[in-house]
Amino acid sequence: MKAITVEPKKPASARYEDFPEPDAREGSVLVEAVAVGVCGTDVEIVTGKYGWAPPGKTRLVLGHESLGRVIDPGESSSLQKGDLVVGIVRRPDPVPCSNCAVGEWDMCRNGQYTERGIKEIHGFMSERWRSEPEYVIKVDPSLGILGVLLEPMTVITKALEQVLLIGQRAYWEPRTVLVTGAGPIGLLAALRLSVRNLQVHVLDRVETGLRPELVSALGATYHTGSVMDLPFEPDVIVECTGVGSVIADSIHKVAAGGIICLTGIGAGGTGYGAVADTAAAVVLKNNVLVGSVNANKRHWYKAGQNLAGADREWLSRLITRRVKPENFEQALNREPDDMKVIIQFSDI
Ligand SMILES: [Zn+2]
Repeated sequence: MKAITVEPKKPASARYEDFPEPDAREGSVLVEAVAVGVCGTDVEIVTGKYGWAPPGKTRLVLGHESLGRVIDPGESSSLQKGDLVVGIVRRPDPVPCSNCAVGEWDMCRNGQYTERGIKEIHGFMSERWRSEPEYVIKVDPSLGILGVLLEPMTVITKALEQVLLIGQRAYWEPRTVLVTGAGPIGLLAALRLSVRNLQVHVLDRVETGLRPELVSALGATYHTGSVMDLPFEPDVIVECTGVGSVIADSIHKVAAGGIICLTGIGAGGTGYGAVADTAAAVVLKNNVLVGSVNANKRHWYKAGQNLAGADREWLSRLITRRVKPENFEQALNREPDDMKVIIQFSDI
């Protein structure tokens, strides 16, 4: 079969090549790839900044935002041939730590977890892949190709669960929410927040086009410019840019008793003075700064429901380009109008 593979930490090593069929030890469920979404992590791996091959191997099959069709359900009693499925990305560490022991591998404490297409397990950018039945999530068949958005939705499902849990530490009546960054993760956050009784605001650098259109279609308000210049103090900020200055502004701008949830990694570069200043801003207003990464099975299940219940026409506008596997390099090069770019392996 063909696969898109990379030698991790070696720039420009990615290629579309002949690759052995998935090993039966990778799981009893055999899946035909339909599509795989591309995100910033894939670009980091391909440019040699991140990623680990499986033990004893030099190359890693790329891809973690999967959508596939079951060829052989194997030992699974709940799957049938033809079912649309996605594969869960992270596996618990072998020790396991206390969190992995209870199935909360997204909260792994020792960093020895593995991740498909990222850390020590092959990903989903191959014509066929296998999985253990317990790491496969069935997708509502009516979603079709939109099922490829399930993995990004898990990230937001977990992050918003964290925010809501933290809000319960005191009496809490949030009214305004700001999402910084109108990429796929930010827009999915806005989508989920817009179904609650909240005023949703989204801030991004881009002034026209798809981003403001998708935000207003949710009934939310779109802003450009600086977080500090907004005419209100958000009760919650979901930070999806990873940009240091946006994070710093968010810490200063959030309302008292507020929550800032970081979903991206900042470029850093702040000195000790800035840290002390940040501490004052957080302490004096009882604010919470929470980081959120990855997702566990509960989030995958809920994300599937969230996606199935969302407006299909709105969701379909998030997928802005479909690329054939042999042209994968086109998918990894960002274009100005890109939102979610997918590599499509087979028709649906
Ligand atoms: Zn662990």
